[in-house]
Amino acid sequence: MRLKNFEATLEYAKELDKEDSLGRYREEFYLKPGSIYMDGNSLGLLSKRAERTLLESLEDWKDHGIDGWTQGNHPWFFMAEELGKKLAPLVGGSAEEVIVTGSTTVNLHQLVSTFYKPEGMRTKILADELTFPSDIYALQSQLRIHGYDPDTHLIRVKSRDGRFLEEEDIIEAMDETVALIVLPTVLYRSGQILDMKQLTDEAHRRGILIGFDACHSAGSVPHSFNEWGVDFAFWCNYKHLNGGPGGVGGLFVNRKHFGESPGLAGWFSSAKEKQFDMEHSLTPAHSAGAFQIGTPHVLSVAPLIGSLEIFEEAGIENIRLKSLKINQYLMDLIDSELAGMGFIIGTPREDARRGGHVSLEHVEAARICKSLKDNGIIPDFRAPNIIRLAPVALYSSYQDVWETVRILKKIMTDKQYEKFINEREVVA
Ligand SMILES: *Cc1c(COP(=O)(O)O)cnc(C)c1O
Repeated sequence: MRLKNFEATLEYAKELDKEDSLGRYREEFYLKPGSIYMDGNSLGLLSKRAERTLLESLEDWKDHGIDGWTQGNHPWFFMAEELGKKLAPLVGGSAEEVIVTGSTTVNLHQLVSTFYKPEGMRTKILADELTFPSDIYALQSQLRIHGYDPDTHLIRVKSRDGRFLEEEDIIEAMDETVALIVLPTVLYRSGQILDMKQLTDEAHRRGILIGFDACHSAGSVPHSFNEWGVDFAFWCNYKHLNGGPGGVGGLFVNRKHFGESPGLAGWFSSAKEKQFDMEHSLTPAHSAGAFQIGTPHVLSVAPLIGSLEIFEEAGIENIRLKSLKINQYLMDLIDSELAGMGFIIGTPREDARRGGHVSLEHVEAARICKSLKDNGIIPDFRAPNIIRLAPVALYSSYQDVWETVRILKKIMTDKQYEKFINEREVVA
């Protein structure tokens, strides 16, 4: 619903900034002067706190050598568990249900290796046709490892319009041949949020396990994974959580599955007190820690320590409120300023059904994105026709959004995009 008293003026944007209780975090981030960052859903920006904890971890290595495992600012041996505890409130798990480890795709492999147990008629994995390709590749390869043909055993629920998924279509596909369901929390293109509680209830009613890819919701949308009974979830910490390029991912395993042996085991799957007994039979941790494999990527996880401090302080509920408001403001401005220019907002309009970004469709999307970059605005492009814009609660201002739409309008009226070819770059 349109913001109250909405106006397309700069004064109105400034008014919203003045009222913004999270506005004070903006100065904690490295924003490039003369540039507006609208890509925090692909790679979040560096904060001073994240920089500090990374440097402190380097100091720990410098000062302590091997003893950094148990000494120093951020002892490495307990880092994954400590961070799991800090992340837990953002996903709605208890401290033991969350661990920081691996990457999104590796964690998906780990969880499918653990929870996909084809038996009798139940041999298929259910996903959807709008899912991020890496997840599909992982699921296809897992099916092949088990000797199944992905063409027959990976069900991809169809979208009716190429943008959204209908929960009822997903539920209809949950038949007696399905062993496991893996779905996104928020769709990476359209930004639609799936009704995770309903889907989990329906899956369980049919005896099917269900897990979620939370890459596009972790850090922008609150979750209640434990309360909803979700079996597992996984996500990256470098998007909305600002953990840095190549940063380590996270996973949630519902405590009802504690004691389950990890599909991909390693010595870091051990109960902590047993790990250095060096026995050849693994005693898995009685927690999500069991789903770690090897030595943690200490320097790649270190920025997350500082970044999560900010989330703890700001509160995920406040972050969600601002995220909804600033994305609504973006949509209001698009409706009012870009009408008749060939744009379609491909994101659900209802608050409860959208995540932390806006998908703007246009036939000339690739070169409009290049033109935006030429004007100092950083969007991202998703082939064939989507401009993704993500004003982020912790560091984007309403004035940033106003400026972005002003420039978009100018690009269209001056036909600036015609200077570029309508093709994507190597990294889009
Ligand atoms: C970003 C993203 C990934 C990336 O996986 P990595 O293993 O971190 O490269 C996977 N799935 C979704 C839905 C994503 O948005």
